[in-house]
Amino acid sequence: MEIALTNTLTRRKERFEPANPSRVTMYVCGPTVYSYAHIGNARPPVVFDVLFRLLRLTYGEQAVIYARNYTDIDDKIIAAAAKSGEPIDAITRKFERIYEEDTGALGVLPPTLTPRATEHVSDMIALIEQLLAKGAAYKAETGIYFSVAADEDYGKLSGRSQDELKAGARVEGEDDKRHPSDFALWKTTKPGEPSWEASFGAGRPGWHIECSAMIEKELGSPIDIHGGGIDLIFPHHENEIAQSESAHGHALARVWMHNGFLTMDREKMSKSIGNIITPRELLEDWQGETIRWALLSAHYRAPLDWSEDLLRQAQASLDRLYGAVLRLKDVAAAEVDAPSAFVEALADDLNTPAAIAELSALATAANVAKKPAEQARAKGELLAAARLLGVLNEDPEHWFRASFGDEAAEIDRLVAERVAARAAKNYAESDRLRDELAARGVEVMDSASGSTWRRKG
Ligand SMILES: [Zn+2]
Repeated sequence: MEIALTNTLTRRKERFEPANPSRVTMYVCGPTVYSYAHIGNARPPVVFDVLFRLLRLTYGEQAVIYARNYTDIDDKIIAAAAKSGEPIDAITRKFERIYEEDTGALGVLPPTLTPRATEHVSDMIALIEQLLAKGAAYKAETGIYFSVAADEDYGKLSGRSQDELKAGARVEGEDDKRHPSDFALWKTTKPGEPSWEASFGAGRPGWHIECSAMIEKELGSPIDIHGGGIDLIFPHHENEIAQSESAHGHALARVWMHNGFLTMDREKMSKSIGNIITPRELLEDWQGETIRWALLSAHYRAPLDWSEDLLRQAQASLDRLYGAVLRLKDVAAAEVDAPSAFVEALADDLNTPAAIAELSALATAANVAKKPAEQARAKGELLAAARLLGVLNEDPEHWFRASFGDEAAEIDRLVAERVAARAAKNYAESDRLRDELAARGVEVMDSASGSTWRRKG
């Protein structure tokens, strides 16, 4: 099957062809682990999890090597440690664990590799030595800097010219760099900060060099796909390209993919604005699959406006799918592949809205299937497609129970009373209970194996 992906570097949708189909490599920039991620930060791991699943389906589970790093040394982490008095590694390990729990609750598969920056400092030092030897970097009092002027390709990912870069460069207070758009590869030790010995002087790595060194060490360049949020195009990914390509003389990544912003009330969600909500807070009120579905409801390149209404729609869509599975509770699903129309939607630049529409059509097919063989096939196709999107992992009865929270036990009791009333042929009581359940938004489904319930569609 042919996969097409939009490449930020060429600004075109291109047919994806890995350099080696038996070893497909993907790297996505992971979190800086010093506080809770917000829901906007959860968009890349969920989007690239769908791509990971599609690549595994296409090339084989063992053929895809997906690395997502942890940035566990950074200015923000040092500041958080100074503020709380906790050791740096206690903070970073704690927030790594929280990140894994939260992304796990959103159905994100563990990547193949999760390298930590602090475990690759010697690789970063070696890379910086190469850049110094090639004249692509220089030493100043405050650190080692990459010389943007020495790299004529600089700006090719973001499409910025050297002149624009000069005008837009942020002037940082203590810097003694030669040029405003030069960036730090290494920061000279400051009192009280973590520090590593290096041939060019003790210090700690800058953020951009971390990813360049981890990609080279863990995957080897050029990698097939490099992903991240759109806000990483400049300067982070531009700088990764500059470092790696200047050092190695070949491309860092063949395809660059970026997901759009997540907004709240049409404003970018960010810690500095204060309009953030964390997956952890959302998981108190919503099931993980509902949050995942909401994140996938827009095309990954488009902005996504986050709201309660978006979550309610996501839950209604999933309720409908789970309702179809529940209706076929007594039917064994046939062992079938996800239907090609569904897979083709995902293969077309990860078109999740189209894939979701296909999934909905599969639920309809399951709902109208009459013959046992048709039902088994419809259920099998629905579940196989859902697996690729990372949903319908719950038992359907548990799904509806969980979505009613504390009220579920009360509903169970009413359903059991109604079963007893029917058994006793007390139809007036049975009807009364059905009405009471309906008033709570519950539909009871009677089958040969007993009575189940779901949220009314
Ligand atoms: Zn990165």
